[in-house]
Amino acid sequence: MKSSGKSKPLFCPVCRRLFFTGNLLHGKKLKEGYECVSCGWKYDPVQQKDPDSCSGLNQLSLNDYTAMYHSKLRENPQFCFRNSVTSGHLCPVCGRHAFERISSHDICTQCGWEDDQLMEKEPDKWAGTSNDLCLNDYIKRYRNTLKKHPDYNFAKDGMPKDL
Ligand SMILES: [Zn+2]
Ligand SMILES: [Zn+2]
Repeated sequence: MKSSGKSKPLFCPVCRRLFFTGNLLHGKKLKEGYECVSCGWKYDPVQQKDPDSCSGLNQLSLNDYTAMYHSKLRENPQFCFRNSVTSGHLCPVCGRHAFERISSHDICTQCGWEDDQLMEKEPDKWAGTSNDLCLNDYIKRYRNTLKKHPDYNFAKDGMPKDL
């Protein structure tokens, strides 16, 4: 049983890193629902075959999850799922706050972003709806604000004034 062809390393389809090392180290088989330690994607064979399907294990389809993960990496190249939250939905702007669920329409305490899945899916659109700027511009403004005021915090300082 030791050396069947099936024991080759598995790579996560989202982050392309070695998949579920911890679980596999303990001699367990890869099972549905195991979480990737790097990006948090839960192993789901249905999604692996059909990256557009939302089969339920993950809140997003494989394609959307990958896009979300890469936007996190752009925001923070050191992003590691393990070091961030283990549940909830990370703020797409600052990555420092977790909303309880996707599209909760709660306001991020760190950057003031209102959680809106549509704006996240189409980051160049929807300025003036839930948020005054589209996601991409909101991220730019947030970064510029941090450059000038490294300890900026929405709950404390409110919306950034024009820079
Ligand atoms: Zn991964
Ligand atoms: Zn935020």
